[in-house]
Amino acid sequence: MLTRFAPSPTGYLHVGNIRTALICWMYTRSQNGKFLLRFDDTDFQRSDIKYINSIIQDLQWVNIDWDLNFKQSERFERYNEVFLQLVKEGHIYTCYETRKELDIKRKLQLKRGLPPIYDRSALFLTEQERASYEQEGRKPYFRFKLDRNEIVKWDDEIKGKINIATSHISDPIVRREDGIYTYMLPSVIDDIDFNITHIIRGEDHIPNTVAQIQIILALKTKAPTFAHLSLLHFNDNKISKRKGGLDIRLIKKSEIEPITLVSYLAKLGTSDPIKVHVDMQSLIDSFDIKKFSSASTQFSLSEVYKLNSKALQKMPFKAVKERLNQIRVNSSEFWYFIRSNIEKFSEVAKWWQICKSDIEPVIFDKEIIKIALNVLPQGDCNENTLSEWVKAIRKVVDTKTKDLFMQLRLALTGTKTGPELAKLLVFIGRERIVARLKKVKDK
Ligand code: GLU
Repeated sequence: MLTRFAPSPTGYLHVGNIRTALICWMYTRSQNGKFLLRFDDTDFQRSDIKYINSIIQDLQWVNIDWDLNFKQSERFERYNEVFLQLVKEGHIYTCYETRKELDIKRKLQLKRGLPPIYDRSALFLTEQERASYEQEGRKPYFRFKLDRNEIVKWDDEIKGKINIATSHISDPIVRREDGIYTYMLPSVIDDIDFNITHIIRGEDHIPNTVAQIQIILALKTKAPTFAHLSLLHFNDNKISKRKGGLDIRLIKKSEIEPITLVSYLAKLGTSDPIKVHVDMQSLIDSFDIKKFSSASTQFSLSEVYKLNSKALQKMPFKAVKERLNQIRVNSSEFWYFIRSNIEKFSEVAKWWQICKSDIEPVIFDKEIIKIALNVLPQGDCNENTLSEWVKAIRKVVDTKTKDLFMQLRLALTGTKTGPELAKLLVFIGRERIVARLKKVKDK
């Protein structure tokens, strides 16, 4: 098996792209196949190296690897060769309409209730008409001539049996008037030259598949297997209005862990439950293309956030050791304690600081804090210290346990909420507890 992910580097990746890449990659790896990363950058006016770099970084970030990568811009000679062959064989024809003229044609068709399919008028131009267009300074553009009486059929691995009449589709433009190849032809040439066996992509490409199968036939080759994924829909208005949905940069900024994102995207729209997977291998092992539904798929950012807490809760110390080192946290005990109490990794630093650095205690009732200081159990703090301590305080002063807990929490952490106080005391340590209470007492 040989598959490819073929982004156009004309923008940043969004979650829909990562989902396609991931599903394609998991499918390949589950079959011990090879995975190709191809940059569809024939449109050099819109393509940018900054997008190529960012796509590479994003794929690496989610741990998707590839066996080979290349840019289409390196293969223009090959595209020219095949293009000329198809022209010679009569599969490609020259057109002269301007974009404006095409637009007017389309609008008129729609007005008359006709499908906006290209009318092939360029096929009937006389030599004289062509020459006069050229003289006017018009540059030709080129279309692939679909076989009009065909029903293109394929057995889609997700959508099932598909039959589409070519009469529903315009002859695709393969080369623009500025000489730029559209995605249509180079994609087919590369898929053939690199022996791609499976093409997994969004269902928005179904009309392209119809045209591309015909180009493949014109090139006397066998079509690969296709799988068209249903598109993602965003239940958040703000996201769905953004072009392309949710940008991966935003996901990173929201501190979603890569394993959270892939665990979510790998199972979204499948018959499997969505849960956190420990690593990519576990996703590969549970992959089955047949589990993907052809119905539309809802993406929920709040579900991703929830899953992120679960991902952190499961994360072993060795997986975060380096990141913890960067924020000068070197205790595995602390990680195993705090990981169940956070939604984002950056909260580790906050709680480490609360435990180990100076904080601003919040005073509630000075008298109680004075008493608490006097009866603080001797010796190092352990997980029982708090209950012993509360008992001792309540022997001296009659106060509700719940209120007492809150006062101690505020005095020792400066915040109202947080991880279990009994465990926090262990990490704060007796010396700091005394210092903090004294600070409150002396205020
Ligand atoms: N460059 C195309 C895109 O980004 C690739 C589609 C395909 O997989 O063939 O939509």
